[in-house]
Amino acid sequence: MENSYVCPTCRMPLTGNSVTLVCPRCRINYPINNGIPDFILEDLAESEHQVLRSISFIDKLAKIYESPMWYPVVYHIYGGLFIPSVKEEVEMITEMVDAENGLGLDVACGTGLFTRSIARKMRNVYGIDISRGMLEKAAKYAEKEELHNIRLACALADKLPFQDELFDGVVCCGALHLFPNTKQALAEIGRVMKRNAILAVMTFVKRRFLKFRMIHEHLRKDHGVHVFEVDELNSYLAQTGFKNFTYNIYGSMILFQAERS
Ligand SMILES: [Zn+2]
Repeated sequence: MENSYVCPTCRMPLTGNSVTLVCPRCRINYPINNGIPDFILEDLAESEHQVLRSISFIDKLAKIYESPMWYPVVYHIYGGLFIPSVKEEVEMITEMVDAENGLGLDVACGTGLFTRSIARKMRNVYGIDISRGMLEKAAKYAEKEELHNIRLACALADKLPFQDELFDGVVCCGALHLFPNTKQALAEIGRVMKRNAILAVMTFVKRRFLKFRMIHEHLRKDHGVHVFEVDELNSYLAQTGFKNFTYNIYGSMILFQAERS
């Protein structure tokens, strides 16, 4: 599998070797550690945004993220008990993408739960995340399951190291509510998608206990977490070049898909 990375700043194809990628225009070096290139140049611990600042916690969380102790627990707290299982959720998202043998992208892939699922039906899949801890775990899981068509990189959702109109299908699960600027991230995701490609997302809406102002305001102010209104998501998507927004809500969790115009 060839790397299709471009400079996230100027979008020139990168040259380099197994330890560094270099932008011939910006003269920026992007280091590669354990096979994972790093496109984030700033120190996230110094970020203005709470979620980005909590990077060392996210790195540590990688160890238990897919264990029964974390993801399924958090998932059911927000979704409620009577929602599809984590496995069913992964299957629904994978089904939505519907781009057999195409090129896929998982934005904020974490430990690669969804990346591995779409990699089973797509030709090649890229996963990007801000957390090296998560990505290294994702690489281990992919290797264990003998999925050799996955490439991972440290990158920001609103500054993707890919050329325009590259991907046939994109997933973004459990992360849209964490981005510092939702519209900016959606616009950037749309930029790298082919026309008519599908974006499949799992995020949270103001339903169940998240409908209480005290709770969603606390999440926003103190944790940088953005709980959405359905109309708000629809409007962001329309403004960033997506159409045919369809969704299902389970508890306070929303699974939606939208098509790149
Ligand atoms: Zn450049």
